[in-house]
Amino acid sequence: IAKRWSATQKSIFSEMTALSKLYNAVNLGQGFPDFYGPTRLLESISKQVLSCHNQYSPSQGEEALRREVSYYVESTSGVIYDPESEITITTGASEALYSAINAFINPGDRVLVFEPAFDLYYQAIANAGGEVVPIRLHSPDTPVGVRGGGWTIDWSEFDAAAAGGFSLLIFNSPHNPTGKVFSEDEIDRISSKVLKNNAIVLSDEVYENLTYASHKHISLCTIPKIQHLVARISSAAKTFGFTGLKTGWICAPANLTNAIRIVHQATVFCTSPFTQLGLAEVMSDKKWFENYLSEQKKSYETKRNYLKSVLERAGYHTSSCEGTFFLTANFEGLAGDMSDVLYARQLVETHRVTTIPVSVFYKNPPKSLPWVRFAFCKKDETLHTVADLLLNS
Ligand code: PMP
Ligand code: GLN
Repeated sequence: IAKRWSATQKSIFSEMTALSKLYNAVNLGQGFPDFYGPTRLLESISKQVLSCHNQYSPSQGEEALRREVSYYVESTSGVIYDPESEITITTGASEALYSAINAFINPGDRVLVFEPAFDLYYQAIANAGGEVVPIRLHSPDTPVGVRGGGWTIDWSEFDAAAAGGFSLLIFNSPHNPTGKVFSEDEIDRISSKVLKNNAIVLSDEVYENLTYASHKHISLCTIPKIQHLVARISSAAKTFGFTGLKTGWICAPANLTNAIRIVHQATVFCTSPFTQLGLAEVMSDKKWFENYLSEQKKSYETKRNYLKSVLERAGYHTSSCEGTFFLTANFEGLAGDMSDVLYARQLVETHRVTTIPVSVFYKNPPKSLPWVRFAFCKKDETLHTVADLLLNS
């Protein structure tokens, strides 16, 4: 393998999913729903497979979907993106991230990343020759101290990381894996730093529709002082609960979009027309789409509350999950100072429950990190089985 990839190992998601299958365990590791997304979308895509043109899409994406994305972003955030010059349809949010990171970074550029962070960021930055400058999100103080708090930023660490300058910040709210939803105040402070450095921000908003209780998603594209610097990413996989769709989009001012489209063209050229046109059709029924999103959110909030109570009863201390479909849980009270990787492997073997150890989301993990991530995008019966496995075995 080429040197720039030599530090990249096989994905933890593949590893834990394989282990889960081996032990016939319940997989709350990799974040994919075990239920079908909306039937209406399946029908719409099937119809497109049988009837739509079956050749390449335009590289920037099908016009019908770009128009629906423009409407959707405007109706959820009030910001207008021009479908012609500011919206690109990508092969999942993954490709949007990869294309944008490779479009924006020169070798040696410093890239700020809040960690723990989704692993693809590190890999794409390494490929582009950038330097990851991590800013720690600190786990809530458990088991003594405040229980159930959220992950926090130490602003002196943020200032120290930014002091050397940076050309890109990768921002992800609601945040995988912590479930943190960044507050208005946090976003304001981060935006000021971005502006001061005239840096670009890649705002990964794939969990934008999954925030709970009083927590609200604030899209970075709504912050006037940095709007011209923001590229905003969404994923149909999360929005519709179909991770197999591999369709996403990235909205950014025209100058940034031009750069992204060059890498997108060189990476995949375009994405499948069937999913794009199927998505455009269901998104064009505004009432249905709005109702679907609000039902989805309610259902996930119920699942979150249930799993949280099960984990607390089983002896974990969970952090507050303000958004996403992930809960991070501290296992110190159950396994002392065991490493999280070992603990996650052992849990599959002893209880047949699969999680993701949180240390894999770091460039250099802290020495002690007794946290694992549980995904709750699962059928109620699956979560009931997990309760049984954790509480009675
Ligand atoms: N960003 C984050 C934070 C994610 O958790 C994921 C995982 N699904 C992605 C991007 C990639 O999304 P997609 O499946 O659309 O490629
Ligand atoms: N985003 C998903 C998660 O965090 C995994 C995506 C993948 O398998 N790369 O679970």
